[in-house]
Amino acid sequence: MRLKELGMTKEDIKRLVNKYMIDTYERFDMVAETAKDMYLYDADGDKYLDFYAGIAVNSAGSCNEKVVAAVIDQVQDVIHTFNYPYTIPQALLAEKICTTIGMDKIFFQNSGTEANEAMIKMARKYGAEKYGNGRCDIVTAKMGFHGRSFGSMSATGQPDNACQQGFGDMVPGFQYADYNDLESFKAASTDKTIAIMIEPIQGEGGVYPADMEFMKGLRKFCDKEGLLLLLDEVQTGWCRTGAVMCYMNYGIKPDIVSMAKAMGGGMPIGAICTTEEISKTFSMGSHGTTYGGNPVCCAAALAQIEELLDRDLAKNAQNMGEYFKSLLKTLPHVKEVRGAGLLIGVEFDETINAADVKHGCFDRKLIITAIGSNVIRMVPPLIVTEADCGKAYEIIKETVNLQLTNCG
Ligand code: PLP
Repeated sequence: MRLKELGMTKEDIKRLVNKYMIDTYERFDMVAETAKDMYLYDADGDKYLDFYAGIAVNSAGSCNEKVVAAVIDQVQDVIHTFNYPYTIPQALLAEKICTTIGMDKIFFQNSGTEANEAMIKMARKYGAEKYGNGRCDIVTAKMGFHGRSFGSMSATGQPDNACQQGFGDMVPGFQYADYNDLESFKAASTDKTIAIMIEPIQGEGGVYPADMEFMKGLRKFCDKEGLLLLLDEVQTGWCRTGAVMCYMNYGIKPDIVSMAKAMGGGMPIGAICTTEEISKTFSMGSHGTTYGGNPVCCAAALAQIEELLDRDLAKNAQNMGEYFKSLLKTLPHVKEVRGAGLLIGVEFDETINAADVKHGCFDRKLIITAIGSNVIRMVPPLIVTEADCGKAYEIIKETVNLQLTNCG
C-alpha cells in the first residue's frame, strides 16, 4: 500500500495508529512505505540505512527478490491449509533445515516465542515421561530473553523488566543462574531439573556472547546429569554470527534448538529442531498449531535459507562483523564492543547516552537501537558491505561527537 494511491499523508497514518492501536512501542517519526536490501524508505521519500533489519530478520536484505518471488508464487497456489494435508513447501523446508544443521526432526511454529514455548513444553514432557512428573524444571540465565508468551516470559530471567512486571505469577518450574558462570548453573540444578536453556549470545540482555569454556562446560554437565541443553537461537540462528547456527561456533550441539527471525526473510515463522529420540515426546495431539508451517511462510523461508547459504552470508557476517567492530572500537568513550558476526553491541561509558545516540542516528538516516542507558545494538542485513559499515560508523561518530559537544 502506498500513501499517494490512497490519497493519504504521513500524518493521517500516525493519527490512525495513535487513535486505534494499543501503545506498547516507541515510534520513530517515519512511515516505512517500502524497503529494499539495506534501505528502508519513508513515505516522504527519505532513505534510511537499516542496521536493525527488522530486529535481525531481513538477513538476506529487505524484500529479497527470491523471497518475494517465492511468496508470490506460493500465494497463488495455496495460501493456507491445515496440517492434515502434506504441503510441498513444508516438506522441502523441513528437509533443507534438518540436513543443513544436522538435526533429525523439526516442528514449525509462527514466531520466536512460540518456538521457545514448544522447546519448553517438549523438555518438560520429556522429563516427566522419562523420570516421572517431578522432573520438569528448567534452569535459564539471568538477563536472558526468550519472548513474551507465558512460558517464554517465565524462562526470561529478568523479574524487574517491564516484560514481566504486573502480569501476576510466572509459570513455575524455572530457576535462574548467572550467564557465563558454569558453577552457578550447576548450583541451580537439582534432582527436579530436566534442562538448561540459554541464548548463545544474550541479545536483549546487552549483547553478551557465551564464553567457549562456559558453553562446552554446560554441554558436558548436561551429558553427565542427563539434562537437555536447549539453545534459543531465535536471534543468533541462520548465519548471523558467522556460522549457520551459533552453536557451531562452539563445536557443540544442543538437544533442542529454537529458531525464528532470519529464517523467514520477513514472513512470520519459527521452529524447533531436535533428535529423533527427543522428538517422540510430542505424540499425536500433544502439540499443534493452526498457522505453524503455513505454506507461504515455508516457501519464503526456503528461498531465504537458500539465499543465506548459496551466497555464503555467514562468511560475510564474519568478515563484515570483524571490520565493523574494528571501526566501532575507535569511537570516543567506548567501554567495550561485543558480539559475534553481525550481532554487535557497543557499550559506552556514562558520558554517552545510548538512546540519544539512537535518535541522533535516526535523524541522520541510520537505524540502530539502544539497550539500557549505555549500549547500542546493531544487527544489519548480512549482505552489508564495507562501504555500508563505513557510512554507519561515520554517522554514529558524528552523533556521539555532537553529544560530547552539547554536554560541554
Ligand atoms: N528469543 C530471543 C533470543 C529473542 O531475541 C526474541 C525476540 O527478540 C525472542 C525469543 C522472541 O521472538 P518473537 O518476537 O518472534 O516472539
